[in-house]
Amino acid sequence: MKCTVCGQEAIIKLPSHHSAFCEKHFKKFFLRRVDKAIRRYRMFHRNARLLVAVSGGKDSMVLWSSLLALGYDAEGIFIELGIEPNSKSAMAKVEKFAASRNATLHIVDIRDYLGATIADVSRKINKTTCSVCGMVKRYILDREAKKLGFSIIATGHNLDDEAATLLGNTLHWQEGYLSRQFPTLEEEFGFVRKVKPLILCAEKETLTYAIIEGIDYDSERCPFSRGATSQFYKHTLNLIEHEMPGTKSYFIGEFFKRISGHFHKSSEPSKLVPCEICGYPTSAGGKCAFCRLKERITTNLDIVK
Ligand code: SF4
Ligand code: ZN
Ligand code: ZN
Repeated sequence: MKCTVCGQEAIIKLPSHHSAFCEKHFKKFFLRRVDKAIRRYRMFHRNARLLVAVSGGKDSMVLWSSLLALGYDAEGIFIELGIEPNSKSAMAKVEKFAASRNATLHIVDIRDYLGATIADVSRKINKTTCSVCGMVKRYILDREAKKLGFSIIATGHNLDDEAATLLGNTLHWQEGYLSRQFPTLEEEFGFVRKVKPLILCAEKETLTYAIIEGIDYDSERCPFSRGATSQFYKHTLNLIEHEMPGTKSYFIGEFFKRISGHFHKSSEPSKLVPCEICGYPTSAGGKCAFCRLKERITTNLDIVK
């Protein structure tokens, strides 16, 4: 297998792009894909200050690395979720990466916000841990971004993540979620702008980039992620992709181009009001989801200790 560009031995074959690349040309190809996503979905300008949500996993580390390689002013933020042993080792890897790139890293402990860890929360809620964890992370990221003076948060969702989410949302016709699924979510209703610059990069590509760049990422799976339906959707899409290369990219790309606007227009704009405790925008009125969760936890301290 030869590199499509230079004819040297290729390290990766990308049937969906009818290409194969050597290390040097794959790196160029990958950074061009990131740059293309930023421009296609009007994510941010060259001189923007970016706050990158880094979990220690492959994709968020690759995102931070590629934004720095493209010359962006990108600082990282790591939320210590208190999921042992994962959180400690992930944090060590993120700190090591930041030091190696001379990049600024902000670390926040979930306990400073919630008074409990995700492991504590999972013991006393009926909902799936991931849905609560996702809500808490969004809340903390938004608050920290504002506190640190950032107006853009970048997250490491890749093409496979987004295609799997789209499949799930479509199978269940989740119109509300479909209307919010886009690579750039504008700053509105008091929320900070969110962007996903890896949206055009498949999981296999982010993994290859991580290996080439020598990124020491955290490969341990979170104990709460087991049996997640998103893994099943990813697996299903990979089976389709194997038979029909390019399907994932077409599925998500055409959704953004032709369909998502329809859901955006047809869904009623949610009426958001400030949370009566913390001021964070909420559609429920009264207290926001985060403050309601915190209240439940602090009134049952015996369980979380
Ligand atoms: Fe949180 Fe679920 Fe991710 Fe674990 S897998 S960090 S619980 S969202
Ligand atoms: Zn080459
Ligand atoms: Zn609140």
